Amino acid sequence: WLWSCRSYIMRYIIQFADQKQEFNKRPTKIGRRSLSRSISQSSTDSYGSAASYTDSSDDETSPRDKQQKNSKGNGDFCIKNIKQADFGRREIEIAEQEMPALMALRKRAQGEKPLAGAKVVGCTHITAQTASTCESAVLMETLTALGAQCRWAACNIYSTQNEVAAALAEGGFSVFAWKGESEDDFWWCIDRCVNLEGWQPNMILDDGGDLTHWIYKKYPNMFKKIKGIVEESVTGVHRLYQLSKAGKLCVPAMNVNDSVTKQKFDNLYCCRESILDGLKRTTDVMFGGKQVMVCGYGEVGKGCCAALKAMGSIVYVTEIDPICALQACMDGFRLVKLNEVIRQVDIVITCTGNKNVVVREYLDRMKNGCIVCNMGHSNTEIDVASLRTPELTWERVRSQVDHVIWPDGKRIVLLAEGRLLNLSCSTVPTFVLSITATTQALALIELYNAPEGRYKQDVYLLPKKMDEYVASLHLPTFDAHLTELSDEQAKYLGLNKNGPFKPNYYR
Ligand code: NAD
Repeated sequence: WLWSCRSYIMRYIIQFADQKQEFNKRPTKIGRRSLSRSISQSSTDSYGSAASYTDSSDDETSPRDKQQKNSKGNGDFCIKNIKQADFGRREIEIAEQEMPALMALRKRAQGEKPLAGAKVVGCTHITAQTASTCESAVLMETLTALGAQCRWAACNIYSTQNEVAAALAEGGFSVFAWKGESEDDFWWCIDRCVNLEGWQPNMILDDGGDLTHWIYKKYPNMFKKIKGIVEESVTGVHRLYQLSKAGKLCVPAMNVNDSVTKQKFDNLYCCRESILDGLKRTTDVMFGGKQVMVCGYGEVGKGCCAALKAMGSIVYVTEIDPICALQACMDGFRLVKLNEVIRQVDIVITCTGNKNVVVREYLDRMKNGCIVCNMGHSNTEIDVASLRTPELTWERVRSQVDHVIWPDGKRIVLLAEGRLLNLSCSTVPTFVLSITATTQALALIELYNAPEGRYKQDVYLLPKKMDEYVASLHLPTFDAHLTELSDEQAKYLGLNKNGPFKPNYYR
């Protein structure tokens, strides 16, 4: 199904090139919503600042204590307020416009249903501001269009966008999620998705590994019928590799996180857009002429540097790897050691995936007003703990913004307490999340339809061909005209005309 679908889209793209009059049929771009974002966070990571547009309800009653039904009399869900469904539906419709690949999959599935019979239990963001509720909603509705039945919980206790959960419940989805769940609620919701008489999941879609962990712990027998796990997050993938290493993984699992397309978009393009948004929202800083230190010139660092350079900032880079360091030089950035410029820079951004990159010694030497934030790994890159000493005063300026004040009056502006700036304080483009969601959908299709023996009880990366397919599904949005290899060229390069076009090790 997948490959025939791929040739279909390739044909479509090529045909597009010949039809210049089609150019102006491009879908209208919609302004950014301030609600979005998923990506590899466990339930305990903070999305605390995120506020949904419609989350003004004062209703303190726990959704668990409410009896709600949708307009068709169905009550198999647990959400904050079903009355918010109309607003949530409009949000979903906006997200759909930026998720062209999922919409293409739906169109394609009007005849064939590659997930017919699939019972997918999902645990992803059903989000607000910093995460991707709407995007999850579009994914869920796509999986249903492809033939699957879905039951869904949120993978983060703060991130659910209540109105979108309401729209899903109104649409007949069994959703168990609301913003501000307690830890107990969190596991209760997951359990309600899994533990239902007469219904047993045969596919898992997880973000963070909590759902998988719950089934392992409480319902290990379920794995007899489960065909595979699709996992999005770094944490969840790590857990799967650990299970595999210990010989305890009982079904095949797909590591979506490390697919090339997802990495490129999440790390490079997403950060290129969200670094400016995160800094602006928290500090209203002007970028032109500011001296910025970016630690690490990998995908995330490259994105941040490109955005800041375009805004007229003077950007310095630190690196430990000579190849990335040389790239930084060739891209026109000054490669320095942190201690060489720490006294003069206005903004410091960590993007290394490492720990203790900005330690107390550097924080002590920063100039008054220096903004310090992290775009890299969780909350390890800046040694925030070293700032919690009696001589320093912490002053909360606003949500996610702290002044840390030295005895001589010098202060630094610490954002999101060193956690990921963009996940805590900015929006993330839906189009980026579309790549992830499409990858998840295709991974489910692949595992669900794979012939016996193709995948063993191990963790797999997406086949390269599938990665390329995810990208190709997004090309029509840009009226992009992909060149097709001639038979002679394909033979010369030793490639199949339909791909894969790069070896598996290509990143
Ligand atoms: P990467 O490996 O491509 O880049 C990291 C770079 O940092 C490497 O080039 C490495 O040599 C360099 N580095 C390591 N230690 C250093 C040090 N002490 N000083 C200077 N440079 C150092 O990784 P990436 O794709 O850029 O991701 C970086 C981190 O960002 C990861 O932890 C990743 O999980 C996270 N990430 C964040 C987002 C987000 O939305 N904020 C998105 C994707 C990934």
